[in-house]
Amino acid sequence: MTTMLNWLTKRAELSPTQDAVVLKDGTTYSFEQLKNHAKHMAKYLMDLGVSQGDHVAVIAKNSYRFLITVHALNYVGAVSFLINTRLTNQEIDFQLKDGQVKYLLFDENLKQQISELDHQGIQLTNIHQCPLEVADISQVEDEINLNNKSHILYTSGTTGEPKGVQLTYNNHWWSANASLLNLGLYAYDRWLLSLPMFHVGGLSIVYRSVIYGIPIHLHETFDVEAIHHDLTERNVTIVSVVTVMLEQLLERLGEERYPDHFRCMLLGGGPAPKGLLEQAKEKAVPVYQSYGMTETASQFCTLDNANALTKIGSAGKPLFTNQLKIVHNETELPPHEVGEIVVKGPTVTMGYYKRDDENDKTLQNGWLKTGDLGYFDDEGFLYVVDRRKDLVISGGENVYPAEIESVLKSHPKVKDAGVVGQSDDKWGQVPVAFIVPKSSIDFVELEEFCSSQLAKYKVPKGWHKIDVLPRNASKKLLRHQLVKQLGE
Ligand code: ATP
Ligand code: MG
Repeated sequence: MTTMLNWLTKRAELSPTQDAVVLKDGTTYSFEQLKNHAKHMAKYLMDLGVSQGDHVAVIAKNSYRFLITVHALNYVGAVSFLINTRLTNQEIDFQLKDGQVKYLLFDENLKQQISELDHQGIQLTNIHQCPLEVADISQVEDEINLNNKSHILYTSGTTGEPKGVQLTYNNHWWSANASLLNLGLYAYDRWLLSLPMFHVGGLSIVYRSVIYGIPIHLHETFDVEAIHHDLTERNVTIVSVVTVMLEQLLERLGEERYPDHFRCMLLGGGPAPKGLLEQAKEKAVPVYQSYGMTETASQFCTLDNANALTKIGSAGKPLFTNQLKIVHNETELPPHEVGEIVVKGPTVTMGYYKRDDENDKTLQNGWLKTGDLGYFDDEGFLYVVDRRKDLVISGGENVYPAEIESVLKSHPKVKDAGVVGQSDDKWGQVPVAFIVPKSSIDFVELEEFCSSQLAKYKVPKGWHKIDVLPRNASKKLLRHQLVKQLGE
């Protein structure tokens, strides 16, 4: 058993007056204030009956209150289920039930949605009602056992039903430290957090902030103007983004340049079209592409500073604490051969909650089969190609939809594109494309565009116009729904 002082307690002891949080309107809270607020909420929750090990769900959008709640639940020692607010009621009900949740803490602004949930047997609490002063907080436990579970976070449900990923304090500790050993730390660092804290990409910034002793610039939503302002005027040095945010930020940047102290745009969550990465390079934006998932408590591989501009399209090397293999039929593959990405390290989950079959299939001797396909180049840099489930095999050749989508999205008349496989008598399967046009579009022109950049077997053989592509609450493309539309 490894114990430590709760990281926020320790940080408040070391740097009490340092800014912990800066809000969009400029309001700041120090680590000492954040600790006291979190302890008050912890005491309030304990008085309500919440105890160590209880399953507690939180449904909230990014806010200072949500941040306090995250820390308060750690002080209580509860297992937190941070729920994606964009899910449908049915999807939330599934998670509450699947996770055997006893308490539900919610954001006042979501009162209406909460009232429509099936919360029978679950005690509801409004996180805004808890007083943040006066109580005697001396009883709140300051020690954490790193082996304890801190969270059960559900995967995005891109390939099927979401699974509850169990994460421990150990997973978060090593994740924060592995990132640190790659990105380094400056006393003046400030990390902008606009990714939702209910996803591991946002949550991991909360722990980096207290472990490193640097402020979070906390944004409630992705407001491109406000974020651009923080990056250019408020000395932010690092921001975590997903592809669609990068797209909008680059557009907003126009001919401007970010200040020199802005040192890292950490990109994760999904594939990034090559054209976009090249555009970032032209504007001298330091994009560090990363690869990770809920199961690895955020980034697992990340490009480093030295290679950010020369290895475009790569997600870098496994971070210091991590191991990664490319495997096919139980055999490790040499560079440039595509196989399944299999990972091991102290940030990898102990397994999915109540999914013994899935755990037996995917976790062996600490190695997790990710279901993603990728390859290493000669120098050990990882390139993620696609999800195994979405692979299209055409005439014996492997076709990766993400590669074709990346080419299609670089066409000026294409707003969005999705590619899936369709059964074909001659080839077994052929790729077909769904296109959201920016302006009126001619598919013959698109076909010629693809032929100039892709091998013949990768050029889509069927074309469909669509108003909007099906995406889940995390905005990830649901290719299986496109397959359904083909009547497959
Ligand atoms: P589910 O597991 O329920 O299908 P999900 O895999 O989308 O959902 P997350 O944990 O949110 O849930 O996402 C992790 C996945 O995102 C990875 O397994 C991978 O498929 C994809 N991903 C992450 N980083 C990259 C990257 N750099 N390039 C391509 N894909 C990426
Ligand atoms: Mg997944």
